[in-house]
Amino acid sequence: QKAEWKELKDAKTTTADGKNFTLGANIGTPKDVEGANDNGAEAVGLFRSEFLYMDASELPSEDDQFEAYKQAVEGMNGKQVVVRTMDIGGDKELPYLPLPEEMNPFLGYRAIRISLDRQDIFRTQLRALLRASNYGTLAIMFPMIATVKEFKEAKAIFEEEKEKLIKKGVSVANDIEVGMMMEIPAAAMIADKLAKYSDFFSIGTNDLIQYSMAADRGNERVSYLYQPYNPSILRLVKNIIDSSHREGKWTGMCGEMAGDQIAVPILAGLGLDEFSMSATSILKTRSLMKKIDTTKMQELAEKAVNDCETTEEVIELVKQYTK
Ligand code: PEP
Ligand code: MG
Repeated sequence: QKAEWKELKDAKTTTADGKNFTLGANIGTPKDVEGANDNGAEAVGLFRSEFLYMDASELPSEDDQFEAYKQAVEGMNGKQVVVRTMDIGGDKELPYLPLPEEMNPFLGYRAIRISLDRQDIFRTQLRALLRASNYGTLAIMFPMIATVKEFKEAKAIFEEEKEKLIKKGVSVANDIEVGMMMEIPAAAMIADKLAKYSDFFSIGTNDLIQYSMAADRGNERVSYLYQPYNPSILRLVKNIIDSSHREGKWTGMCGEMAGDQIAVPILAGLGLDEFSMSATSILKTRSLMKKIDTTKMQELAEKAVNDCETTEEVIELVKQYTK
């Protein structure tokens, strides 16, 4: 097994019938880029930028952030790095940015909601990202988008900062993709509308499952409802992927489900373009991909989405199809 993985490190991710997928790594700091490369990552599908904020004792400056993003894109040598803008709130706190006490922090003031409100913080981050775009292939995505209006607002602020930098003579890449996380069911339901504006989607299943099932992702008493293979979740995922493809866009997944060995065959069948996971799951997933046939997986996905009633039935089906 180890020998096979070693060979797969520099290989493409190709299925038995010759289809290619992209396997990316999720990272929290630029230091994780080394591990991503060592494990054969073809991209960084999620850079959780909030760790830059959480590891500091005050708001990180534009220059500090610039250095971090630059290091990450340079380290990936031209492979795409998707940086998610600050996703604070929910269970992630900043000691120096006191947030209001809330009854339901996961349903409250968090992520893009803070960024659209505290534009000083948001614009600083966007400028740092724009400047770093010169050093590799950088993409940006916004967390917790619920509506078309939120996406348009965030994107407009991005464009404003870009224009301001260009006017000042600062060079920025002109092909930065600007996308969004798909982690709120309301957004998943209007994926066709959002796909007109967003360059790509990245499905955050950790939150998408929590919000779809109305079950706190950290509460053990309701953890039986955390069901990635439930047909309800698969239907949302399918709608997101199909909607993006109809607009000529792509969809990745950066929640835990992307590296789940039972989910991967279904996701491949649904046509997910990029799978982003913890670096240590990449080679195992590349090895699994080599064994599957996408036509067969499309049949599997279709049955899982349309015919299955329960998670258990889906698991059974995957076992049959991957025997
Ligand atoms: C997700 O919600 O699936 C996700 C990738 O974001 P986070 O786990 O950081 O909330
Ligand atoms: Mg999330």
